[in-house]
Amino acid sequence: MPELPEVETIKRELDKAVLGKKVVDIIVNNAKVIKEPKKERFIKELKNIAIKKIIRKGKLLIFELSSRKSLTIHLKMTGQLIYPGDGAVSRVSFRLSDGKLLDFNDRRLFGELRIVGDWRKLKFIKELGPEPFDINADKFKEMLAQKKTKIKVLLLDQKFISGIGNLYANEALFRAEINPQRPANSLSGKEKELLFKEIKNTLSEAIKYNGSSVDQYVQLSGRPGNYVKYHKVYDRDGEKCFHCNGKIKRISLGSRGTYFCPSCQK
Ligand SMILES: [Zn+2]
Repeated sequence: MPELPEVETIKRELDKAVLGKKVVDIIVNNAKVIKEPKKERFIKELKNIAIKKIIRKGKLLIFELSSRKSLTIHLKMTGQLIYPGDGAVSRVSFRLSDGKLLDFNDRRLFGELRIVGDWRKLKFIKELGPEPFDINADKFKEMLAQKKTKIKVLLLDQKFISGIGNLYANEALFRAEINPQRPANSLSGKEKELLFKEIKNTLSEAIKYNGSSVDQYVQLSGRPGNYVKYHKVYDRDGEKCFHCNGKIKRISLGSRGTYFCPSCQK
């Protein structure tokens, strides 16, 4: 599933490619991804409306429109935005004022498109915890203080902290040499600081390399992101740890695949 770095990569590319353009036509090939309003109204609400601003909040993309409403796009598991697209496998295509298509592809149809009045009022948005880049180390330490939840499970809780998904939680914990099964409140002050630093480093590096193409994620151009080759533990079950040559182990935590080095991560 695309996480903060992947959605941020797409957001930055959208800024260059489609910002300020008008939606002149909407081609709906599968209405299942349109969550609100109904298809006909969705089309009507977008026609001849300009994209004024593009925002990323957690893993959600928001197009603020000249109509004062917003189009929100959640890629979920297999959603892709492609520009310029060809409409070949798109669920919904937006024909823009430059004549080109912005395609929303989504093999498994879990993605969600919505037109809403004020996106800030969406329940899901109101419940989002702060992003790592919006807080400092002291705040992070304070947030962890009372939490007995396993640290990795807590990092994935979007209501606690938003934007970190399974992949980057695994990577950040490896870099901070912290065992993912530790209760959050058992981390020392130093460990919390280091973890916070490594979360931000991991996310920043992933953005720099345009995200990780695991599953279906691609950049707006359709090209894969380049960060996979820098992964240290994710999806490396049974392979050698880059630090100690020990074996990377996979366990399940909160029903998510968790990869770590039992000798490096204490
Ligand atoms: Zn190791």
